[in-house]
Amino acid sequence: MTKKIIVSTLFLAATFCGISSEAEGLKNLPVAPKEGRFVTPTDLVWPANAGEGDVCLWKDDKFAAIAITIDDNCKPDHEWWLKLCDELGIKVTWFVVTDGVGKSNIGFNGTWADWQKLADAGHSIQSHTTNHNSARDLSEDYVRAMYRDSLDVINSNVTNNFACTIAYPSGTAYPEICAEYAIGARGVYGMPSTANTINYMCTNKGAPGQAFIDVLLYGETTHEPKWIQKSPKLKRGLNIVLYHFVQAGRTPEQKIETMKRTEAEVRNIASYKDRLWVARFDDLMKYGQERDTAKLVVDPISKSGEISFNLTCDMDTKIFDYPLTIKLCLGEKANEISAKQGDKSVASRIVEHEGKAYALVDALPNGVPVKVVYK
Ligand SMILES: [Zn+2]
Repeated sequence: MTKKIIVSTLFLAATFCGISSEAEGLKNLPVAPKEGRFVTPTDLVWPANAGEGDVCLWKDDKFAAIAITIDDNCKPDHEWWLKLCDELGIKVTWFVVTDGVGKSNIGFNGTWADWQKLADAGHSIQSHTTNHNSARDLSEDYVRAMYRDSLDVINSNVTNNFACTIAYPSGTAYPEICAEYAIGARGVYGMPSTANTINYMCTNKGAPGQAFIDVLLYGETTHEPKWIQKSPKLKRGLNIVLYHFVQAGRTPEQKIETMKRTEAEVRNIASYKDRLWVARFDDLMKYGQERDTAKLVVDPISKSGEISFNLTCDMDTKIFDYPLTIKLCLGEKANEISAKQGDKSVASRIVEHEGKAYALVDALPNGVPVKVVYK
């Protein structure tokens, strides 16, 4: 990797400090090669022999992934989303235009306390730039300030949250500049992403309809639109959904219609939670880039009922701190499991498949050894 990493205030503003260097890992990945960064498995992966492991394509070994993102502040919609997401047990990502927050048109832009409330409920607060300027001929310095300052101001005002991604206003993207400050960015190219070619600094954007869920699960669908109906490459992929103005900015008649439609779509997405990872955008950007560069080394089994492994990645693990799900074949039946990374307990559970027991273990890709004990 020869890409120059420029130290940004974002990366210094995080809970760590010091000079970033390539030795500390990458902040984001370049565009994927045409053939993809790896071969996407068409189904869940089940290593055959005890002591063999695999980095799951998505968290908790979900089949595919989806993110619900909401742009343009829309303060009048906050309570509605909070209530619906709470009921459905899902988290969403808000892309905030920061200049007006607490300053102008507060009824629409919100105050920092409003954004803190969403963060405290587990939702992610990310940047939609300082001012939503989507012109295509902006100066480099101007764009730099739009990206950098918006992330900085969120991180100075919202706790329980780390702003490290951006949604490009109206899709106008300056990805090279964005890569200096963010680990990922949402574009608006209108289709889901294949799992092995995610363009992290300008992702695609899909849609909430059934067709866009079906193609993730089956690679095909009978639902509209026609152009997506045969999409085998999208199987196990990523669909990013964008909302704004559910009630905000609508006439009373439109309001009822949009609320009804949006609620039905979101409920439908949530009904696939057992197979789809309904994720926050920043978590997806972390998981994806950690996974794409992960190296898993499982030690030979030396003691019955114990497996150790080591997980690393090419990313800067001070920022990339989202656990990857590791699947380990345990061989025969197992009933109890626990796992530690270093001296910290990490989440682990047993799943069974075709007469064998498998462990699913959450591990950070930071090289700290993981020890799994089972019986
Ligand atoms: Zn917007």
